[in-house]
Amino acid sequence: MTDNTVPAAPRADFPRATVLGYPRIGRRRELKRALESYWAGTTTADDLERTSRDLRLTTVRRLVDLGLDPGTGAVPNSFSLYDQVLDVTATLGAVPARFRPGREERPVAPAGTERGTGKHLAEPPSEVSTETYFALARGTAEQPPLELTKWFDTNYHYLVPEIGPDTPIRFADDRIVREFAEAADPSDGGTPVVTRPVIVGPVTYLLLSKPEDGAPEGFSPLRRLDDVVAAYRELLAALAAAGAPWVQLDEPALVSDLIGAPFDATPGSTDGPGRPDTTTVSDAVRRAYAALTAPSPGTDRPQILVAAPFGELRRASGDRLALLAGTDVEAIALDLVRGATPPTEGTAAWNVPGLASKTLVAGVIDGHNIWRADLTSRLDLLESLRRTTGARTVTVGTSTSLLHVPHDVDDEPRLDPALAGWLAFADQKVGEVVTLARGLDAGRPEVQEQLDAATAARTGRAGAAGVVVPEVRERLAGLTDADFTRAPYTDRAAAQRTRLSLPPLPTTTIGSFPQTTEIRTARAAWTRGDLTDADYEARIRQEVASVVALQEELGLDVLVHGEPERNDMVQYFAERLAGFTTTVNGWVQSYGSRCVRPPILWGDVSRPEPITVPWATYAASLTDKPVKGMLTGPVTILAWSFVRDDQPLADTANQVALALRDEVTDLEGAGIGIVQVDEAALRELLPLDAAAQPAYLDWSVRSFRLTTSGAAPATQIHTHLCYSEFGDIVGAIDDLDADVTSVEAARSRMEIVPGLASAGYARGIGPGVWDIHSPRVPSGGEVSDLLKLAVAEIDPRLVWVNPDCGLKTRGYDETRASLANLVAAAREVRGSL
Ligand code: GLN
Ligand code: ZN
Repeated sequence: MTDNTVPAAPRADFPRATVLGYPRIGRRRELKRALESYWAGTTTADDLERTSRDLRLTTVRRLVDLGLDPGTGAVPNSFSLYDQVLDVTATLGAVPARFRPGREERPVAPAGTERGTGKHLAEPPSEVSTETYFALARGTAEQPPLELTKWFDTNYHYLVPEIGPDTPIRFADDRIVREFAEAADPSDGGTPVVTRPVIVGPVTYLLLSKPEDGAPEGFSPLRRLDDVVAAYRELLAALAAAGAPWVQLDEPALVSDLIGAPFDATPGSTDGPGRPDTTTVSDAVRRAYAALTAPSPGTDRPQILVAAPFGELRRASGDRLALLAGTDVEAIALDLVRGATPPTEGTAAWNVPGLASKTLVAGVIDGHNIWRADLTSRLDLLESLRRTTGARTVTVGTSTSLLHVPHDVDDEPRLDPALAGWLAFADQKVGEVVTLARGLDAGRPEVQEQLDAATAARTGRAGAAGVVVPEVRERLAGLTDADFTRAPYTDRAAAQRTRLSLPPLPTTTIGSFPQTTEIRTARAAWTRGDLTDADYEARIRQEVASVVALQEELGLDVLVHGEPERNDMVQYFAERLAGFTTTVNGWVQSYGSRCVRPPILWGDVSRPEPITVPWATYAASLTDKPVKGMLTGPVTILAWSFVRDDQPLADTANQVALALRDEVTDLEGAGIGIVQVDEAALRELLPLDAAAQPAYLDWSVRSFRLTTSGAAPATQIHTHLCYSEFGDIVGAIDDLDADVTSVEAARSRMEIVPGLASAGYARGIGPGVWDIHSPRVPSGGEVSDLLKLAVAEIDPRLVWVNPDCGLKTRGYDETRASLANLVAAAREVRGSL
C-alpha cells in the first residue's frame, strides 16, 4: 500500500458490511471551528487543510476500529469541507458566470502542484480554488451565494447548482482522488485504508440544479447530462488509476416525486415547442449509467454502487429498482427503513430482471433516526432478502448516510443511562451493521449475545416509565371530531373584529426580535450556572420591556414579546415538555459549519406547567395594544426532533398538539387574544413519494387543528409558514383553518398571492413585505409597492402587513429602520383603500 504504483482495481466483491456515509463535522465540531477561524482570517488555508485531513484520517480509522474492513472499500469517504453537492460543482468546475468575472486573468495552477500527492495524479489540476469554493457557499461583496435548500426530507441543506447551456463542465478538480490516495497511502505512517469515495450521482446532481440566470426559457439542466457524465467518466478513471475498488454514487432523486421532472414519459407526450424538455428521470438514469459503465480501451473504472436513500424504489407506479438493475452497475443500495418492502412479498421471489448480477446493499439500519435497532427482526429480513430477491448477493448497510445522526452515544454524559441504552448514534450504528453482517455470514449463534442485548434494550424501552402514560393515551382516545373543529370562520371573524378593533392592513411581526450578543451571553452564563435563575429572568424581562417599547414607538398594531428567552423555537419547547430529552454533544450538520442538536422525543408527551404564559402576559401588561402569544406547532416540533419509532407519527403529533392546546387555553385564560402557532416545517415533512402525501397532509393538518380548535371564536389564531413554494400544499394550508396565515413573499414579489386567492383561500393573509434573510433595509416605497400588489389580488380586508419571518438573526439598526418603513407604507396604502 505504500507503493505508489497501485495496480488496476481488482474486481473485488462488495464488502459484507458498510455505512453509506458518516458525520463529517467532527466529534467536537472540529471542522466547524476550523472553517469559522479560516473565514475570520485567524487561520490559514493550510491550517484548514491540515485540520480537515486529520479529521478524515481519524474518521476512516475510527470506522475500521468499529469493524469495517480496511482493504475493500467498506469505509466510505463522505467528507466535505462544506457540502457534497457543492463538491460536485467544484469537481466539474461548474462555476456560474456570476462568480467568474475576471476568469481569463486567473492563472490555472499547474498540474500536481496543489497539496501534494501529484505522483500518480498528475492530471487534472484543481481549477476551483478554496476561495472560489467558499465564495459559492457564502457569497462575496458583489454576489449572493448559491441558494441553500433542504436535502430531500432531512434537515440538511445543500447549495443549489446553477447550470446553463454554457456553464463550463469538465473534470476540473481531483480532490476526491487526492482524498482516496491520502487514506490509502497516509503520509503520517498510520494504518492505510482503502476507502469508497461517496459522490452525488450525475442524475441527482442535475435534477437538483436550477437553470443559471440568463438561460433560455424552458432550459433544463438535465440537458447537460452528457457533459456531466463525460466528466464523471474521467473522475472514475482517475479513481481506478489510484486503486479505488468501489465508488458510491448517491441518487436519492430516484425515490422522489418532488423533483422537477417526470419519472417516466406520459404516454402520448411529444417533444414540441410548448414542452421543450421531455427528458425523464428514467431516460436520464439509463443514459447516464450506460455511459458510465461502457468499457473504454486502456482505462479502468471502480465498480459502482448506486445508493437510493430516503424512500422506496419499488413503486406500484413503476419499478425504479428494475431500472437500476437494467444498467451495468455492480451494486445497488436500498433504503429498507423508509422503503418498506410490501409484506405480501415476504416470501415471494422479487423477479427483477438484471438483479441476478448485482449486489444488493440492504439498508436495514436507520441512518436517519437514533434508536437502537431490533437486530433480530433485521436479521430475519436480511435472511429473507437472500432467499427472495434473486440478487447475486445481499450485504448489510445503513438506509441513508449517517450524516443525519450525531457521532456517539458514549459522548453523552448527562443522558439517563437507561435512555442511553435505547439509542444508537453513528458509531453504534456501525456496530449494528457489523454485527448483522457477521450473523448473516457466520450464523446466528455467532451474534446471539448481541441480538439478545438489542432485544432486551427494546423490551426495557417499551416498559419504561414515561414511554406509555395512561392519562395521555386516554385523552387521545377520547378525542372526537369536535376537538378538531372551530366555529365557522365568518362567526369568528365577526367576534374578533369586535374584540380587537384593528385598523385595515394591520401591522405585526412574526415573533422574534434580534437576539443580541448580550442575550446569548446571559443565556450561556445561566446554562453554565454562572447566572442565577432570578438574574437571568430579570435580564429577559428587561429585554421584553424594551422590545414592547420599541414596537409602541414604531406604531405597530399587534405586538409580540420578542422571544428573547428562546434558544431555538423547537428546543425551547422540548426542554419544557415531558417525553423529550436533549443532548450535550448530539450535533448534526444543518449546512456548512452550522449544526443543530435535535431533541429526542422518547415518551408520551405532556406539559407539566405553562411555558410561554408568563412572558406573554408580562408583555401584555406593558401595553394597551394586543399582544400575540407565540407557539411552535406540533409538526415543526416533530420535524426538528428525533421522533420515537414505536407508534405512528400521527399519534405522536397529536400528543404534542394536546400539550400545546393546553398552552393556548392558558394564554387565552390570561387574556391573550391572539395566538400564533408556527408551522415552519409543514412543507418539509411532505413525503417524497406522491402516494404517501395525502395521508401525511391529513394527520399534519389535524394535529394543527387539534392544537388550535379549543380557542374561543373571539381568539384569533395565526400561523406562520416560512417559505413561498407551497403550490403542492395550498389546499392543506386552507384546511389548517387559521384566522391569519403569514408567509414568505417579498423575494418572489408576492408571487404566491394570486395562487392562494384562486385556490379559494379567504381568511387573513400576511404576505411578507420585508426579506429578512438579508441585512438590507427595504424602503417605504418598496414596501408599499408590494402591498399594492397584494391588495390588487385579494380583498384588502384580509391583508396583514408583516416581515417574511422572525427577526432573531437581524440587528437592531436595520430592524428599527425596516419596521418604520413597513408601518409608514401600511399607513400610506390604508389611505388609498
Ligand atoms: N416565531 C418564530 C420567530 O419569529 C418563527 C420562526 C420561523 O418561522 N422559523 O422567530
Ligand atoms: Zn419563518
